[in-house]
Amino acid sequence: MSFDVDLFVIGGGSGGVRAARIAAGYGAKVMLAEEYRVGGTCVIRGCVPKKLMVYAGRFADEFEDAAGFGWSVEPPRFDWSVLKRRRDAEVTRLEGIYDANLIRSGVEIAPERAVIEDAHTIRLTGSDRRVRAERILIAVGAHPVKEPAVPGIELAITSNEVFELETRPERILVVGGGYIAVEFAGVFAALGSRTALLHRGERLLRGFDDEVRDALAEAYGRRMDLRLGRTVSSLERRGADLVARLDDGSEIAADHVLVATGRRPNVAGLGLDRVGIATDAAGAIPVDAYSRTCVASIWAVGDVTNRANLTPVAIREGHAFADTEFGGKPACVDHRLIPTAVFSTPEIGVVGHTEAAARAACGEIDVYKASFRPMKATLSGREERILMKVIVDCASDRVVGVHVFGHDAGELIQAVGIAVQMGATKADFDRTIAVHPTAAEELVTMR
Ligand code: NDP
Repeated sequence: MSFDVDLFVIGGGSGGVRAARIAAGYGAKVMLAEEYRVGGTCVIRGCVPKKLMVYAGRFADEFEDAAGFGWSVEPPRFDWSVLKRRRDAEVTRLEGIYDANLIRSGVEIAPERAVIEDAHTIRLTGSDRRVRAERILIAVGAHPVKEPAVPGIELAITSNEVFELETRPERILVVGGGYIAVEFAGVFAALGSRTALLHRGERLLRGFDDEVRDALAEAYGRRMDLRLGRTVSSLERRGADLVARLDDGSEIAADHVLVATGRRPNVAGLGLDRVGIATDAAGAIPVDAYSRTCVASIWAVGDVTNRANLTPVAIREGHAFADTEFGGKPACVDHRLIPTAVFSTPEIGVVGHTEAAARAACGEIDVYKASFRPMKATLSGREERILMKVIVDCASDRVVGVHVFGHDAGELIQAVGIAVQMGATKADFDRTIAVHPTAAEELVTMR
């Protein structure tokens, strides 16, 4: 059989771009199709622009806190249009870098939609071209859903449209209790929007440690109108107001309602049925440890496989695929110990088991905990506490979970993640000398 390319990658997000570049680096002839913008969710309408907005919001606390240290600051003013313009320009700059890197690696980019015709054929729908590929990698990502399916839900926006808002909402209702809802509610509250966060559960961030979840709820309760254990029954436009009616009969009027109630894999119309790939209950493509689908010539990485829906994981999966298939270096990704951060304010950083999961997995555990006022708050007067938990498996003394709720938790957990990944014990933590005065020193001084 003759092929036009060694590898066809569908999707120019984190996983697809990495796989394409590494495969091309091994000498493979690679083509990549992207129907929207190269960079994918993370760069274009996810991690990157979101984090820039998180930074923008955090200045509000800084201005306030400065007073306790002797600074007098004119009442600060915030200009949404400046932030939007500069943020969008940065996203465009990064998109250009992604494009350039692909081209420099020798990858041919098709800026159009690609669908699967058979196990070795891709059809580019814009130009109606057919490309024969020895291997196909599906890296099409996922999209936000508009749920719950209540009357008026079409009036809500998702994490895609939130980046298009031309003005700062004076009032916003955020629905959901996952990463995206928590992060955007934090951003809008910090930027001065009157913010309500509504979640159907009694605690935000399912899957996180319960005490961290409680600490977040306490902090968010001070920063916004937090409604837990509530659902939306309908949305209705009344003049300038978008009114959400809740299950208890109460109403919240807002300029925008942002639903962040989950994401679904982008498999519609991809042609999976033509090659016999059935999706699972979540709509994701089932793959093995090497990202192989049930079709020998087709692989899938990233959010479309719904393993751990995080950019660095997709990148690792794409890299491992290319190493295995084109580099002669079989590799698969260990999904067990993934450090992660939620960019709420304060932030959350986590690696390993929650207390409950550790108890279930290890049996006997020790839990070391510190809850304290950050040093900065002594002068700023800010009512805020840091929470740190170190969870230790008694039998082996290994640290099996670290949870941090507080400023820069994401930065901190990246470093702690190395120790936990290496199998550090509590004794290793204990003989590490503290860096003083920091908040992080608590991690090595807990007794
Ligand atoms: P999540 O799956 O994390 O959260 C969805 C939330 O919506 C949950 O709180 C869920 O409640 C709630 N929900 C689901 N369905 C309904 C419904 N029908 N009615 C009301 N509430 C509902 O999704 P996100 O969209 O927040 O994020 C998607 C993924 O993106 C994350 O899992 C994460 O992997 C990734 N991400 C990572 C970030 C980071 O690393 N900082 C940032 C942003 C996203 P319940 O808990 O009760 O099911």
